[in-house]
Amino acid sequence: MRDLRRRARWATSTSAAVLLFACGRTGDGTDAAKRDSAVNGTAPSPTSWCAKIPRPENVRFPRVDVPGDWHEVYRVEPGVFAITEPRQFQEAIAYLIVGDSSAVLFDAGIGLVPLAPVVQALTSRPVRVLNSHSHFDHVGANHEFEQVLALDLPFTRGNEGGKPHGDVADEVVPSAFCGAPPTTADTAAFRSRPWRVARRVTVGDTLSLGGRVLEIVAAPGHTPDAIVLLDRSNGLLFTGDTFYESQLWFFADETDIAAYDATMSRLAALAPSLRRVLPAHNTVSAAPSRLADVANAVQVLRDGGGVRVIDEDGVREAVTVGDVRFLVRRARAAATAPARPQ
Ligand SMILES: [Zn+2]
Repeated sequence: MRDLRRRARWATSTSAAVLLFACGRTGDGTDAAKRDSAVNGTAPSPTSWCAKIPRPENVRFPRVDVPGDWHEVYRVEPGVFAITEPRQFQEAIAYLIVGDSSAVLFDAGIGLVPLAPVVQALTSRPVRVLNSHSHFDHVGANHEFEQVLALDLPFTRGNEGGKPHGDVADEVVPSAFCGAPPTTADTAAFRSRPWRVARRVTVGDTLSLGGRVLEIVAAPGHTPDAIVLLDRSNGLLFTGDTFYESQLWFFADETDIAAYDATMSRLAALAPSLRRVLPAHNTVSAAPSRLADVANAVQVLRDGGGVRVIDEDGVREAVTVGDVRFLVRRARAAATAPARPQ
């Protein structure tokens, strides 16, 4: 069964049909209610995806007790902790990667519940935060940390100011949760908090943690600032939203299918040297061979192939290539199509 993880919001308060943002949301390809609600920019029905929690793919890893009752942490590899938020529909996953002398927190969740106490329970070593990209469901707790690293790109800088409540209100409606919202979260005032960057990094940089080196690898496509983290000696690739087991959305203004195609070709070439892929939504582990599957599928997509179903809104098109699914903006395929209003 394929899962769909999506986030989409349509701004109705500022300008009709202006796409604010699209990232990742969980769901099920057979779950029309959830899929449709995602497409319409509202939270999904919890009845179906809640039934998938906890995900069997995740619970096979050792669970690690952490403070609070919101985050669920799995030890995926020695020194690699997947910090999941399974009861909010994004099911965002942050990874704490621990070396002998320091640690990197790759992504920081949606920010509904403080993340720093969880991280501090997992390691006493200094922690640097780096985001797979700057969509708000991955930077939510950045503000809790002193050492935030970031690329020096306009898209990243544009997101460093956070998002007001109106932009993220759909993330905290009752149907956005399995069960009740976290008791400590003020959902009525929830916003994506701004954060400060301690140091700019660039693709190609390496982060030495002591006994473990992480390479920052460019992965534009989902966003201009998308990166993946490569732990070459351990055969691990942390893919952010560049790959996760779900429908891949490419209709937001910041997405770039041509760039994504090139990215996936590079990542697929890495696959033989990898043991495990660790995505930023839904499931904490995937087979490296999936990178080649997606790389092949995106080329079929760009060639106009796949099984295509036009969305009800007439703007987007669902494209299925084998067991890889995309949601794209139809206008992207038409060179003469007018630009979307801003
Ligand atoms: Zn995203």
